[in-house]
Amino acid sequence: RAKSDGRNCIRFFLPVMQMIANERLEIEQDLRWALDTNKFQLHYQPQVDFNGRVVGAECLLRCPNSMGEFRRVDLCIDVAETTGLILPIGEWVLREACLNLKAWIDSGIATSLQHLCINISPKQFLQRDFVSLVQRVILETGVDPCKVVLEITESTLIDTNLDAISTMSALKELGVRIAIDDFGTGYSSLSYLTRLPLDILKIDRSFVLGVNNNQKNAAVVEALMAMARQLGLDIVSEGVETKDEINFLLEKGCECFQGFYYSKPLSMDAFLDYLRDPLVLIEH
Ligand code: C2E
Ligand code: MG
Ligand code: MG
Ligand code: MG
Repeated sequence: RAKSDGRNCIRFFLPVMQMIANERLEIEQDLRWALDTNKFQLHYQPQVDFNGRVVGAECLLRCPNSMGEFRRVDLCIDVAETTGLILPIGEWVLREACLNLKAWIDSGIATSLQHLCINISPKQFLQRDFVSLVQRVILETGVDPCKVVLEITESTLIDTNLDAISTMSALKELGVRIAIDDFGTGYSSLSYLTRLPLDILKIDRSFVLGVNNNQKNAAVVEALMAMARQLGLDIVSEGVETKDEINFLLEKGCECFQGFYYSKPLSMDAFLDYLRDPLVLIEH
């Protein structure tokens, strides 16, 4: 009886697994195609200060398939990580972001922009010559390194320990800054974080959501902000969608916001329009 149950289970399970495997295979093919034919895109999400000025942006990869539709980027990144494609893709993102940032600043359209954030996946960060890659891209593009922020996640740090600290220090020597992304969702100890050469802490959207009337989120956010202040880190609140959330975070000392309230990630042209003329200028 147990045997036949087991068989039923397998009969049910296999098609689901097959579907997932097929989708991952399709994604892998799309990623190779996009890489070979230069079809990846970067979108840019504004980061706004309390006066509504665009002080920064995060670049977010967009992965089209041959039908021209974008695939879910978190899934694409996951497949890219397991197949190793993340290394060439990540290098493309880094170079493209730096080239564009340099062009915007040179042309005078990005005067308020203090930085551009670039997501770095764990495998990329842990590759042996990552620091020299960053150095090469800075030299080749001529970008001002102090305007470049590399975003890493807590999992990148947990998987490695000491190596991560020396890589971070070497990156800081190049002049770039380092942000910790999705902060609060990992399991790193706070004492460990105090030993890292970080510049910016991005509070994860899951804590920002309804923070103005959710006591648990409010408590977490207040603790994170207190810690950031102690460590001299800048804070960016991710995923702000309402004015009430923003007002609460502002009152607690956050000065930089990224979220749909201000803007979704935008194509480069739309982002440049937004820079010239932010759609939402708010009186707090
Ligand atoms: P992330 O780095 O935490 O990026 C923020 C994500 O939150 C983006 O999703 C953005 O569209 C979304 N978001 C921003 N504001 C709001 C909001 O107000 N409400 C809601 N519901 N969502 C908001 P996206 O573009 O789908 O990217 C998902 C993740 O994929 C990123 O999370 C990042 O981990 C990864 N990713 C994206 N581009 C790259 C890349 O170039 N390299 C690497 N390694 N990872 C990337
Ligand atoms: Mg990010
Ligand atoms: Mg994030
Ligand atoms: Mg995230």
